[in-house]
Amino acid sequence: ATQPYDDQNIFAKILRGEIPNRTVFEDEWALAFHDINPQAPIHILVIPKGAYVSWDDFSAKGSEAEIAGFIRAVGHVAREQGLVAPGYRLLANAGINSHQEVPHLHVHLFGGKALGPMLM
Ligand code: 5GP
Repeated sequence: ATQPYDDQNIFAKILRGEIPNRTVFEDEWALAFHDINPQAPIHILVIPKGAYVSWDDFSAKGSEAEIAGFIRAVGHVAREQGLVAPGYRLLANAGINSHQEVPHLHVHLFGGKALGPMLM
């Protein structure tokens, strides 16, 4: 079973405005901001505004509007960052085996260079 949502996780604090962030996009459904420890020239995190731990949690419990809004936000940020032509990578960790650190769903958006083959 998915762990219960922890209101004190760092992205919950960012959503509440308790911790500063470098926002690149925000709407009703999602917030996108620069990763504090970038692994590529462009490394942005996109998170839904709702309290969801992971992709499986969100896809099971999120409303159609939340899911559509979040996915649209990811694509919007990729376009806005000029990543469509050069290309980019999306990655979402979930749970222990993936080393998910922050228990609020987030999609990593990497770009700004040739990324090389995906690593497992
Ligand atoms: P995960 O391993 O959970 O998929 O990724 C968590 C990401 O959140 C990491 O890339 C990490 O650098 C980033 N991160 C952790 N704490 C903060 C923070 O306070 N602010 C920002 N902007 N990113 C953070």
